[in-house]
Amino acid sequence: MKRLPVLVLLAALLTLPPATAQPAAGTLPARWQTGAADCTAATPPLQVHEYRPGTYVLRQSLCADFEGPFMYLLIGNRQALLIDTGAVADAQSMPLAKTVLGLLPDDAHGKRPLLVVHTHGHADHRAGDAQFAGLPATRIAPTDLAGVRRFFGLPGWPDARASVDLGGRKIEVIPTPGHHDAHLAYYDPSTGLLFSGDFLLPGRLLIEDTATYADSARRVATLLRDRPVTHVLGGHIELDAAGQAYPHGAQHHPDERRLQLDKRDLLGLPAALAAFNGFYARQPNYLLSHPLHNLLALAAGALAALLLVAWALRRWWRRRSAHRAGA
Ligand SMILES: [Zn+2]
Ligand SMILES: [Zn+2]
Repeated sequence: MKRLPVLVLLAALLTLPPATAQPAAGTLPARWQTGAADCTAATPPLQVHEYRPGTYVLRQSLCADFEGPFMYLLIGNRQALLIDTGAVADAQSMPLAKTVLGLLPDDAHGKRPLLVVHTHGHADHRAGDAQFAGLPATRIAPTDLAGVRRFFGLPGWPDARASVDLGGRKIEVIPTPGHHDAHLAYYDPSTGLLFSGDFLLPGRLLIEDTATYADSARRVATLLRDRPVTHVLGGHIELDAAGQAYPHGAQHHPDERRLQLDKRDLLGLPAALAAFNGFYARQPNYLLSHPLHNLLALAAGALAALLLVAWALRRWWRRRSAHRAGA
């Protein structure tokens, strides 16, 4: 009789998920398609990489749009999730929806249902939405803050979290405003991948609101500090292998840095933002930049130069007048 509680305890322990489940491993290419010096020659519009079965990374050609954004397709047993739709609306030149549908498994009643979500509402992450509108069994999440909160059920923005159940695979939805007021990151515990959009990427982290950005960085670091993060996968690559940024608008990225950042970059972001001078800072694997502050500084510099010229002209004119009067 005394064995019964022990057996009950054992059964309970066996049905619990393991506390330290290892995330499923995958591969990433050392090099992506890096555009071309001459974009008039035909280049493939879209590169598709299978990280592991059911997890795909898609990159749009830099020749199609200099942003060369990355998109991610995660397939569960019941539905699939597409994170971002890239910078190109035209389905002829950028067959995104066709490619994604081709990757979806066939179920009894057609393709597996698809949910299209975004890291944020900047045009280079949602221009392809139109290709998915009206497709059967396809839903598209909104990108404005009110819509995002309503769609994912995030009344406690930005401290709340939501999840999307794909069937055997639950994706966590994490508010990360600061670059954009409705920015989201997505964490996939089954692979340990964090899809970070423009919040964290090997390139320029463009800060719209420093305090909000820093809050987001602290929140994500706290959430994932003790959990597996295999790779941080962002929306763009803007650095070469030596850490130098390509000029804005470059459609050729020779010797491009790899896409993935790691957990150290993520955990180091709060300190980098705390030390940020408000204009520009370099970290080994990314740059911090506040475009509005830089623009204001530039405008202030231009105004100061203009005032200096006006002062010099006035002085010259007065001297000339005084000289003439004395002559
Ligand atoms: Zn953006
Ligand atoms: Zn972007």
